[in-house]
Amino acid sequence: MEGLIYKKQNFYDIASEKEIKDAENFAGEYMQFLDKAKTEREACREAVILAEQAGFKQFDFGQKLKKGDKRYFLNHNKEIILFKIGSNNLEEAGMKIIGAHIDSPRLDLKPNPVFEEGGMCYFKTHYYGGIRKYQYLTSPLSLHGAVVKANGEKFEFVIGENQDDPIFYISDLLPHLSQGQEEQKLREVFSGEQLNLVVGGKTSKKQKEQKLKNNVLEILKSRFGMSDADFMSSEISAVPMHKAREVGFDRAFIAGYGHDDKSCAYPALRAILESKSDETVMVWLVDKEEIGSEGNTGAQSKLFEDLIDEICDNFNASPRKVRRNSKCLSADVTSAYDPNYSTVFDKTNVAQVSCGTCIMKYDGAKGKSDSNDASAELMGELRKAMEEAGVLWQTGELGRVDLGGGGTISKFIAKLNIDTIDIGVPVISMHAPYELISKADLYSTYKAFKAFFK
Ligand code: MN
Ligand code: MN
Repeated sequence: MEGLIYKKQNFYDIASEKEIKDAENFAGEYMQFLDKAKTEREACREAVILAEQAGFKQFDFGQKLKKGDKRYFLNHNKEIILFKIGSNNLEEAGMKIIGAHIDSPRLDLKPNPVFEEGGMCYFKTHYYGGIRKYQYLTSPLSLHGAVVKANGEKFEFVIGENQDDPIFYISDLLPHLSQGQEEQKLREVFSGEQLNLVVGGKTSKKQKEQKLKNNVLEILKSRFGMSDADFMSSEISAVPMHKAREVGFDRAFIAGYGHDDKSCAYPALRAILESKSDETVMVWLVDKEEIGSEGNTGAQSKLFEDLIDEICDNFNASPRKVRRNSKCLSADVTSAYDPNYSTVFDKTNVAQVSCGTCIMKYDGAKGKSDSNDASAELMGELRKAMEEAGVLWQTGELGRVDLGGGGTISKFIAKLNIDTIDIGVPVISMHAPYELISKADLYSTYKAFKAFFK
């Protein structure tokens, strides 16, 4: 980035043939991960498989650690923290941490979801995370579930991902009858209570009442041995059934469900699996970011701090000193400039697709509220590291001042006195069932994480 005036650079203007090929390969591997990891449970399962292949072993509190150890802590099957113990002095060097989330917006089933009306059997849903409700109407959905039966037995299932599976469907109003709706405000048009999934339409021969509902429950009974009441002790999510696909004649982009935040989680995972650093490095793949980082698998839980304490105990290091000397990349997506909606962005301060990973000093809303707002020193340090490693990067704000905003897990990490900054892949149509990213930005983010762990 020489020259008096700063200008963003497009990856394809400056990358070598080899780099473009590497970016293509990495995109292919990412797309496979994305298709297998639509929920936080599935992302954890895939992370464990890749971690074990790379020689990482499961860790539990009380176990002894030594230098060079590669371990992972799996928390309630919905959060995973991988770490590698370095050879240098932990207290002086601190840890290098990358945190990303593995939950994505979707529709969860209510505890009593099943009802029938108008010749159709439905599941009621309660949406998870920030969605534009209309995007889920007439969009094919699959079900991903974990169910605990009355006897305590647990099972998991996925329906709607295979080509010959049935899918699930939410209706929309026909344009012929939408005149009344068109006069209404957008926020009033689509109600959460209308997000009901069509799950059946045949009647049970065995019953006289609620024959459609009974038929669906009979199928669930014979297939999984589950009953109506078992929904109360379950987590079943309706997610877009789409597989990740390349977009455009030149295949520059990837459309997929859950780029927020698997497009950061997967590069982070790969970076630690491939790390040869002699520093202590950690990748934290966390749940519940989309609903405020609450709960015991969310970033506000005590686990992260506990695990750092536990590692410190093993090496007689002061956790306070280790945290103070640690650095963290809060890896989460940001918005990319979208020419179709140009007025919501400050054009000179928004990320642009294919111009590299986006490092953000702050996020938040209304005067930087709820934002971590990293220091100039940390921004400067990271900038230098990126330039030295030849990583294409840019900076950006989510959108125009006072239009809205959003947060990440950075503020919860920074609370522990860990120097933290936001970085991630710019996304078009963030939180939509089918989001869009550039392969170049995905690859640049991976390269940034590799450089951070160097
Ligand atoms: Mn996110
Ligand atoms: Mn999000």
